[in-house]
Amino acid sequence: MTKIPSKLALVVGGSRGIGRAIALRLAQSGFDLWVTYVQNQTAAEEVKAAVEALGRSCELLKFDVADHDAAKAALTERADQLVPDAVVFNAGIAKDNLFVWMTKAEWDAVINTNLNGFYNCIHPVIFPMLREKRGRIVVISSTSGQIGQAGQVNYSAAKAGLIGAVKALAREVGRKNIYVNVVAPGVIETEMVAHLPKEQILPLIPVARFGQAEEVASIVNYLCAEEHIYINGQVIGVNGGLAM
Ligand code: NDP
Repeated sequence: MTKIPSKLALVVGGSRGIGRAIALRLAQSGFDLWVTYVQNQTAAEEVKAAVEALGRSCELLKFDVADHDAAKAALTERADQLVPDAVVFNAGIAKDNLFVWMTKAEWDAVINTNLNGFYNCIHPVIFPMLREKRGRIVVISSTSGQIGQAGQVNYSAAKAGLIGAVKALAREVGRKNIYVNVVAPGVIETEMVAHLPKEQILPLIPVARFGQAEEVASIVNYLCAEEHIYINGQVIGVNGGLAM
C-alpha cells in the first residue's frame, strides 16, 4: 500500500468525544497529530494508540487551554519548528445554570476555557502559519452560539464570541492562504450531553435523533483536508436541522 504523504494537524481537546473523532478522521486522511487534553490521560493514551494503529504519529500535549502561559509554553516553540497544516480548536466545557442563578465562577470558567482558550491556543500558531502562507483553522462553536440557549448564557456568549473571532481572523489571514471556519454542532452524543433529557429535546430536531461525533468530524476533515476549497469565514451547522 502506498503511504499518503503526511501533513500535521493540531487538535486542541482531542482526547474524548468530538475531538477524539476529529483526531481519528484526520489520521485516516493522512495527518500526523498533536492531540491536547487537560486531565484524562487514559482517554488521551487511547487516542494516541488508535492514531498510531492507523499508521500516523500522535504526540500528546497536556495543558489547560484557559492557562495562557501553559498554552504558550506548550505550543510556541513547537509550532515555530514544525508548522501545523491544520489546527482545530475543539476544547470546551459547559457549566449550565439559569442566568439569574449563575455564579461568577460558572461564567468565568466557561469564558476562560471556551473563548480565551481560542486566543491562548491560536495565537502561538498563527505567526508560523502566516510565515508558511498556508493552513486551515477550524473552530468548534455550537448551535447555542448561533441562536442562544436558555440556561447557557455563559456558553452561548463564549460560542458566539468564537464566531466573531473566526470571521475577523478569516478577513485578516485569508490573503495568506489560511482558511478559517467555524463548525457549529447541535446536540451530539458525547459525555457533555449525557445528562440532558433526551425525550424533551428530540422533538425539536427535524431528523429526530442526536448527532454522532463522526458526523462533526467528517465536515472538520473536509475543511482541513480538501485541497480545492473556497470556504472561508463561514459557520457550518451540524445539527440535524435544529437551527436553520
Ligand atoms: P467532551 O467533554 O466529550 O470533551 C471535551 C474535550 O475538551 C476533551 O478532550 C477535554 O480534555 C478537552 N478539554 C476540556 N476542557 C479543557 C481545558 N480546560 N483545557 C484543555 N482541554 C480541555 O466534549 P464534546 O466532545 O461533547 O465537545 C467538544 C466541543 O464541541 C466543545 O467545544 C463543545 O462545547 C462543543 N459542542 C459539543 C456539543 C455536544 O452536543 N456534545 C454541541 C455543540 C458544541 P480531557 O479529556 O482531558 O478532559
